[in-house]
Amino acid sequence: MAYADTLIHAVGNTPLIKLRRASEETGCTILGKAEFMNPAQSVKDRAALFLIEDALSRGAIKRGGLIVEGTAGNTGIGLAALGSAFGLRTVIVMPETQSIEKKDAVRALGAKLVEVPAVPYANPNNYVHYSRRLAEALAKTEPEGAVWANQFDNVANRDGHARTTAEEIWRQTDGKVDGFVAAVGTGGTLAGIALGLRARSKSVKIALADPPGASLHSFYARGVLEAHGGSVTEGIGQGRITKNLEGFAPDFSFEIPDTRSIPLVHQLVVDEGLCVGGSSGVNIAGAVALARELGPGHVIVTMLCDSGTRYQSKLFNPAFLASKNLPIPAWLAPENASTP
Ligand code: PMP
Repeated sequence: MAYADTLIHAVGNTPLIKLRRASEETGCTILGKAEFMNPAQSVKDRAALFLIEDALSRGAIKRGGLIVEGTAGNTGIGLAALGSAFGLRTVIVMPETQSIEKKDAVRALGAKLVEVPAVPYANPNNYVHYSRRLAEALAKTEPEGAVWANQFDNVANRDGHARTTAEEIWRQTDGKVDGFVAAVGTGGTLAGIALGLRARSKSVKIALADPPGASLHSFYARGVLEAHGGSVTEGIGQGRITKNLEGFAPDFSFEIPDTRSIPLVHQLVVDEGLCVGGSSGVNIAGAVALARELGPGHVIVTMLCDSGTRYQSKLFNPAFLASKNLPIPAWLAPENASTP
């Protein structure tokens, strides 16, 4: 019999899917790692697993204990699902601006959800700081312990990606991967996969794809953390060098505006039958940019981080798209809704 012993064993080993149109347009083989096929449906199931295993191995919590985290949503969904599989309970702190679908998923999975106003990291009430204080307060009363997962600055996140995700990519491409590109939330995915692939290959090129509103593109291109503009994408857009990013530098860095990433998300539905979230659009645009730098004939891998169903009320909602001055794809336009 072939089965996963628990949900935990079903994390990872996601397929690589060739993105036909991006590949045709660049002459490269552009492959998307289908992270939405993880059990709680995003790349952050991996980080949730690495962080829980780290907390348990340090003895920071025991079965029945509490795991507390500040998240844009996907890490919270992963922690809630995998936490239950480990016999843990979860408390999730999210900025209230994040999609209703992600908040509903956190609640549906049995976690306690605390919504806080979206304020910058420098503000002590930012969701990251809020979740740390909440974990400290709960640790005083929880008999089995309460731990702050700390996905941004706990390098168990990056190291787990180096050990597992990078190895999957290496194996799935028979070591032929020439480039990897990803956007950054914590940096665990990009820096971890860079570590793992660079240990395997001297020639592999690593690229950052950054949305406006983030500061990393300016940092890697000009040495200054500087932000301008904004983005509707969720889960990415970092303003500081997290511990997971320390010691890391990409070979290339690209800034991808919503006017490029969101139409790509819509195009992917029509061209490939793939429905993904906004960060995957940034990643694919980044993969196309890297393909143009490297030239035809290369193998480039990127992440399809989560499903578009997590953003139905935003990226697939004509009213939302119109409010952000983003193009509405023909098949979503209200006037075409009932025409075959
Ligand atoms: N895309 C989405 C949809 C995410 O939720 C996240 C994580 N916040 C990322 C990309 C970025 O991953 P990482 O935290 O590993 O940088």
